[in-house]
Formats: sequence, C-alpha cells, structure tokens
Amino acid sequence: MRVRLDDLVGSALERGAAVPAFTCYDFTTALAVVAAAEKSGQGVILLVAPKTAGVRSGLRLITALRALADDASVPVSVQLDHASDLEVIRDSVAAGADAVLADGSSLPFEENIALVRSVREVLVAAGASDVVIEAELGGLAGDEDKAFGVDIHAHPAGLTDPGQVQDFLSRTGADLLAVAVGNAHGRYAGEPKLHWKVLEDIASLTELPLVLHGASGIPAADLVKATSMRVGKVNFNTELRTGILATLEAETTAHRADGENLQGLLGRWSSSASTFAEATLDMLSS
Ligand SMILES: [Zn+2]
Repeated sequence: MRVRLDDLVGSALERGAAVPAFTCYDFTTALAVVAAAEKSGQGVILLVAPKTAGVRSGLRLITALRALADDASVPVSVQLDHASDLEVIRDSVAAGADAVLADGSSLPFEENIALVRSVREVLVAAGASDVVIEAELGGLAGDEDKAFGVDIHAHPAGLTDPGQVQDFLSRTGADLLAVAVGNAHGRYAGEPKLHWKVLEDIASLTELPLVLHGASGIPAADLVKATSMRVGKVNFNTELRTGILATLEAETTAHRADGENLQGLLGRWSSSASTFAEATLDMLSS
C-alpha cells in the first residue's frame, strides 16, 4: 500500500527503528526491494535519481513504481531523490512520485531556503500540496550515481550547522531533514566517522525525522545508533549497485552459454538486490 513518506518514517521512529530507502534505476531492482520488504513485513522507500526522472522513460518508471507501491502488502513510498530542477520535480510528481528531496544543499543558506520554498509553491500550484518534502542542510561529498572513493576527512566543511536547523526548518516548512554528519555519497576512502555530537545537537532541536544519505559503508552498529537520534530514514545506493554488478559480472558468461538465458540472469540480479534489501530492512528494524 502506498503511504506518506513522513508517516512511514515517523511510525518507524516511534518503534525505535528506521526505514531504508533504495535507489531504483530499473524495475527489476524495485520488484526485488518490494518483495524483500513484503517478506520481512517492513515498509520501504523507493528512490528515483533525478537523472532517471529527467527523461520520458524515467517518468514512466516512476508511474510503474507507484503502481508497485499501491499493490504492495507493506507500506511503500516513491521519492524523487536530490532534485533541484522545478520542471523535473513537477513532472515526477505528475508521474506518481509522492515525495521529493528538494536539494539546495550545494547552495548558500538563503538560496537553499528559497529553493525549498519554490518547490512547495510549484507543487501547490500543480494541485499537489500533499507531496512530502525532504530538505537537505549541509553539503555531502561524493556522487550519488557513481561510486568513487570519497575522503570524508578532506571535506570537513560540509557538516550541517546545528545553529541553522530551526531557522531552516521553520522557513522551509520541510517535512524531513537530510543532514551531513560525516556521511558521504559513493564509497568511503578509509573508515567513515560520524560526528555524533553534531547529530545529537541537531536531534535535540527538532521533532522532525532526520535522514542519513550515503549509508553504504557505514557500519551497521552506527546506523542503528543513529536511529536513537531521530534518524528515521537511511538512503542506500552504492552497496545495492555493487552487489548487482558483481552478480552480473560473475553470472553473465554462464547464462550466455545457457542459451542466452536473460530470464535466469534477471533472477540472479533480483536475488542479489532482495538479499541486500532484506538484510538492511532487518538491521534497521531491530
Ligand atoms: Zn543522497
């Protein structure tokens, strides 16, 4: 069943749990993620990358994901990830996305606020005032769609400033807040180190759910600890891709030899994605 993303995340936080969000570039992965969620009896979030949503076929993927969410036996939300282009946001919501990350995190503070406000205005004007908006404060190093080693210690300036949180949230009207507390997109070069004091300070300043991006590579114990500091949504992309691509690399030759067996290969793709999703769902729900 499709549910509001903030309700899904809020009720997980009440149980001391968090909801994983998985980037789906394709429908095979999305089917596997939802099947894993149904198997574990937990809600899940399907993320669509802005580059995916920027083309007609990507908008059709969003429509398909919405139908998948409606049909699921567990709560599912479909979110447009990291968007700053108002046209892509409007098109994605029209196609079926029910949540958006209005990402002004690379902009100066005031421009970030202005972007989130303009996203809300565009959605209200489009008759979609019920769309859930996540905003991001503080800059994350790395690339969302390609994993290269990111030395987080070389980017210490991007941390969320707790002193800006209340002003930012009251002026943007955001429903969730993505924070930069030592997390990065892509692959971590060396040990990732979360800044607990910063996260704790932010958590003490708001009742809204916090979001941790770039969770691939952060130790499970740290992710579980973060749920006690209002982190109710955790985004995964790199680890899911790594598993799928490694599976395809290992399995393609045998499946080609087996009469160009694409169906069998898709089955292996699917089980790689669902195994990772299920382990992640179980880890965050405990
Ligand atoms: Zn992200």
